[in-house]
Amino acid sequence: MTENILEIQSLRRQFGETTALDGVSLTVPKGGVFGLIGGNGAGKTTLIKHTLGLLKAQSGSVRVFGLDPVADPVGTLGRIGYLSENRELSDWMRIHQIISYTSAFYPNWDPVYAERLRSDFDLDPMANIHSLSRGQRARTGLLLALAHRPDFLILDEPSSGLDPVVRRDILGAIIRTIADEGRTVLFSSHLLDEVERVADHIAILHQGRIQLSSPMEKVLLDHKRVQYRLPAEVDRFPANGIWLLAEGFGRDWSVVTAASTEAIHEVTKAMGALIQSIEPLSLEDIFVARITAKSSAGETGS
Ligand code: ATP
Repeated sequence: MTENILEIQSLRRQFGETTALDGVSLTVPKGGVFGLIGGNGAGKTTLIKHTLGLLKAQSGSVRVFGLDPVADPVGTLGRIGYLSENRELSDWMRIHQIISYTSAFYPNWDPVYAERLRSDFDLDPMANIHSLSRGQRARTGLLLALAHRPDFLILDEPSSGLDPVVRRDILGAIIRTIADEGRTVLFSSHLLDEVERVADHIAILHQGRIQLSSPMEKVLLDHKRVQYRLPAEVDRFPANGIWLLAEGFGRDWSVVTAASTEAIHEVTKAMGALIQSIEPLSLEDIFVARITAKSSAGETGS
């Protein structure tokens, strides 16, 4: 039986008139890297805040390591490493001070690992936190999240505002962390090439709802783009319930689907159409197709 690190059921969160989470159910299995993707305002940070017990479920439930993070912060937070979207750090400290200050909260703090990260991230121990660049702040935040070797590492937009070299540093660190057996990483991002490179499992969050949650390999395998030549010109691609997105005009159409090859061939035969090619898709293409299909629900079927 697979053990789950995080189990969320029917979670709803309303901020005044805004529905940030609209009945979210999600499980994050133990081990590996889980990418949470979604556009601006999709609800990613709100979901993460519930996981950390910073927000209490208005309805539905959240369990981390099988525990309620609001009722049992001691049992959960000590085992979680967290990099916030805003990189909150005590501005009056120096880097070496914030490292030793943070270490006091975690019995499992690994000073050798902390020092290695400090050196890998090229952070000056005497530097003042308030004078750090955005990238240096992110690296410091990441060091503090990683150095107690948490069972569950949560990174909210870890690459936000970082240059590509630093991004590689951060990804390298994530990968090193998960390489340690049994550790789990949940990270939110809208940099889909990065998610595709590093995640084992993804969930797409759109307008407060989970549109898809699946192992990365399966997501990439299931979705494909089919290039069609139709027997006659059409203004609209024939709807038949298996297309997520159809683009084109006349007789030439390009469609995205997650249907099986058998289902595609069956539908193609019924249309009297010709398949020109079937191609794999990047995660970015899949994300766009999924989101567009939901935004124009009913037009293409799903
Ligand atoms: P981004 O990628 O832009 O950071 P996100 O996916 O993390 O977005 P959230 O920050 O969770 O999205 O926000 C989801 C929705 O809830 C948005 O419409 C946001 O404006 C709203 N929201 C979040 N926090 C609050 C709050 N404290 N008060 C009011 N509205 C909020």
